[in-house]
Amino acid sequence: MEPFAIQKLSGWGRWPVEECRVYRPEKRRAACDILRTCEGPLIARGLGRSYGDAAVNGGGSVLDYTRLNRMLAFDSDTGVLECEAGVSLAEILDVFVPRGFFLPVLPGTKFVTVGGAIANDIHGKNHHVDGTFSRYVDQLTLLTPAGETLTCSPAENSGVFWATAGGIGLTGLILSARLRLRPIQTAYVKADYVRASNIDEALAVMNRSDERYTYSVGWVDCLSKGARLGRSVLMRANLAAPGDVPHGADPLRPRKKRAKTVPLDFPAFVLNPLSIKAFNSLLYAVYPSVEGKIVDFDTYFCPLDSIGHWNRMYGKNGFAQFQATFPYSERGGLVALLELIGKSSCASFLAVLKRMGAQGPGMLSYPSEGYTITLDIPMRRNLVEILRKMELLVLEHGGRMYAAKDATALPESFAAMYPRLDEFREVKARLDPDNRFSSTQSRRLGITPAREDDHGK
Ligand SMILES: Cc1cc2nc3c(=O)[nH]c(=O)nc-3n(C[C@H](O)[C@H](O)[C@H](O)COP(=O)(O)OP(=O)(O)OC[C@H]3O[C@@H](n4cnc5c(N)ncnc54)[C@H](O)[C@@H]3O)c2cc1C
Repeated sequence: MEPFAIQKLSGWGRWPVEECRVYRPEKRRAACDILRTCEGPLIARGLGRSYGDAAVNGGGSVLDYTRLNRMLAFDSDTGVLECEAGVSLAEILDVFVPRGFFLPVLPGTKFVTVGGAIANDIHGKNHHVDGTFSRYVDQLTLLTPAGETLTCSPAENSGVFWATAGGIGLTGLILSARLRLRPIQTAYVKADYVRASNIDEALAVMNRSDERYTYSVGWVDCLSKGARLGRSVLMRANLAAPGDVPHGADPLRPRKKRAKTVPLDFPAFVLNPLSIKAFNSLLYAVYPSVEGKIVDFDTYFCPLDSIGHWNRMYGKNGFAQFQATFPYSERGGLVALLELIGKSSCASFLAVLKRMGAQGPGMLSYPSEGYTITLDIPMRRNLVEILRKMELLVLEHGGRMYAAKDATALPESFAAMYPRLDEFREVKARLDPDNRFSSTQSRRLGITPAREDDHGK
């Protein structure tokens, strides 16, 4: 089978960029043929919303699964939806929110596929109470590297299931899944916004009262220093009741806002420490502390989705996103990270803070108990050096980084951060002894062996 294109591919951060043979099947049978005949290692790709190199395969093949996006069955009594893995969360929301069902876990963008959501075992603003996406996957079908279709669930082939949930595409191609949706009465949340004047105040407020909210997240001004280091706006919410919805509005069909698009790459000078500082000050100013604000789902859960191609704001050289969790006992690590960013003047346009709940059963799932922080760093000469310092800091404090955001971590760091890596490797060796499935990321992280073409990367 011929590839659809030889294409330069990257993640959402637009860096690193690598040439890959890209296949875009429209039928399941074609996906099986691709696995049998493609050159070099193969990795699946969804909507490419991972920031780094998880869905990139330099010198190898990439199977774009987005055209296999049919919804197969829905049971309105149980809320269980069976769909192909190329269905996006946006498509699910479009169909099911008006019918009174919501996704149990929604990340900061709805433009991710079900396959990508399982492969990174994604988390949302409710992780502290509801856990990760895979907790709501009753069953999935996997095209194994040997070309067989395997049904897995927490009860059937559970080892493969928990290696696949968070397994960054390395156990095979997820073909379809059965998801449990959550009944809702409205498509709005009732949100409390609280300003915190520094990181200690933000953590104290979250620790004191996060449990009262199903959804909790904070925006952090990474450029404030001294006594204002880590000043934040906490945005915490619960689902709104029908009586809370603005008069005259349809509770399950909030009015859609027209999306804007960044039409072209911004020149590098547009986002500089000064403009980012101004943006952060503005954001702090426009969010006074307020209680009980009724906000529609799109605005609360996925604010950046209203700006198409927002990654172009970082210019064509791209940017890196960094996300790490520090255990609750390691608050000092989080503070040291904020100080490091301040000192390196590597401004982050947006930084997000959240308390995470207990770790789930996925062998390589990222979420674990602690404070997670996410930041963007625009491309610059010493980007890798700065990211390396951040990585070492996370390691020193017993934390871990998120593969969905990573493009630079070292294999020894990844092994130290993910103590169940050997267990994952055992499942991988059984399913895929020849490492048919690997990516630029898995080779860089030493999860799968390097290839000759990888030298110098
Ligand atoms: C604005 C923004 C906000 C975000 N917020 C969050 C957040 O709050 N929480 C969070 O957890 N993540 C968040 N993310 C990251 C995103 O949710 C994950 O990277 C997700 O995996 C992307 O899905 P995708 O369909 O784009 O997959 P891709 O990025 O294309 O691929 C991701 C991984 O999934 C694998 N994969 C994809 N499809 C399949 C398949 N069919 N079978 C097997 N493997 C497959 C790929 O091989 C790769 O390893 C955010 C990303 C953006 C851009």
